[in-house]
Amino acid sequence: MSSTGSSSIHCIRDLHSAREPGDRPVISFEFFTPKTDAGDVKLMEVTMPALMALAPDYVSVTYGAGGGTRAKTLTLVDAIQKQFDLTAMAHLTCVGHTRDEIAAILDEAKALGIRNILALRGDPPAGEAEFTTPDGGFEFSYQLVEFIRAHGDFCIGTAGFPEGHLACEGRKLADWGYLKQKVDAGANFVLTQLFFDNADFFAFRDHMVRQLGVTVPICPGILPILSSKQITRFTHLCGARIPAALQTRLEDLADDDAGATAFGIEYATAQCEELIREGVRGLHLYSLNKAHSVAAILGNLGLDHR
Ligand SMILES: Cc1cc2nc3c(=O)[nH]c(=O)nc-3n(C[C@H](O)[C@H](O)[C@H](O)COP(=O)(O)OP(=O)(O)OC[C@H]3O[C@@H](n4cnc5c(N)ncnc54)[C@H](O)[C@@H]3O)c2cc1C
Repeated sequence: MSSTGSSSIHCIRDLHSAREPGDRPVISFEFFTPKTDAGDVKLMEVTMPALMALAPDYVSVTYGAGGGTRAKTLTLVDAIQKQFDLTAMAHLTCVGHTRDEIAAILDEAKALGIRNILALRGDPPAGEAEFTTPDGGFEFSYQLVEFIRAHGDFCIGTAGFPEGHLACEGRKLADWGYLKQKVDAGANFVLTQLFFDNADFFAFRDHMVRQLGVTVPICPGILPILSSKQITRFTHLCGARIPAALQTRLEDLADDDAGATAFGIEYATAQCEELIREGVRGLHLYSLNKAHSVAAILGNLGLDHR
């Protein structure tokens, strides 16, 4: 039972441990914090109700790289938990925060009955190429994980990078070693960056499990393609590789967003089918605050209900 008084607000760790082999994987959707009030209303009154029909296990809300949307994360997570009686996780980043500020955010989260935090270093704010350690703050996310673990009874998620993190380019084994450090610091589960070649995910997962002995759930992050331009921009930002065959298809669909969306549903469905066959314990879908592709993918997989 959560401090919101609702038995539907769970620790994500417990959602995973309640699953038996052969059960539906833990299904989660990620939202970004809308920039406008109209975006908030659309998320809460159109997108969320449509996604609730798919019986997600939980949703998560990003934390902005700076600026006005940051304050919205806890508000939205709280509103989702209260309005839909659904577990929601707040993302939280090291960027631009002192320890005291992080402590105050955690206190507020706790008071609102928010039980799950995704602990991240965070993207550099607009106009800055690299992360700068804030005075009195944290350099790496494992320090944030440690701090949250010491601060309260939160269930903590951490980010994993099947192709290695951009800043660790060419040294993915080192990056995967740092992920182990985040788990050892107290993270309860891993959500991955988007990827388009499942072989990258399997190599990453095998290394984490077999070589590094990680036992917490490692859940792939899947992005449904909506347009060629969108994918070029996203992969440029996060460093994910577009396999050659996918690149060719995206070039053919460069001026056809509807075609790219339909193809994206097909591609993500095939990715998820293989991931499930290979035993993933959760699917984290980057919804981009839209229900259509996510609903179609889960429908194709027969996972649009419990
Ligand atoms: C599922 C998911 C959700 C995300 N949500 C958000 C969000 O809401 N807001 C946002 O701003 N960003 C978000 N991001 C992006 C993320 O914040 C960036 O990719 C960030 O650059 C890395 O975050 P991290 O927590 O992995 O950082 P860290 O774990 O701190 O790693 C950062 C870099 O430092 C290296 N490193 C880590 N530990 C050590 C160490 N001990 N010594 C030396 N090097 C080390 C790593 O290899 C990596 O290159 C998300 C990413 C994912 C996968």
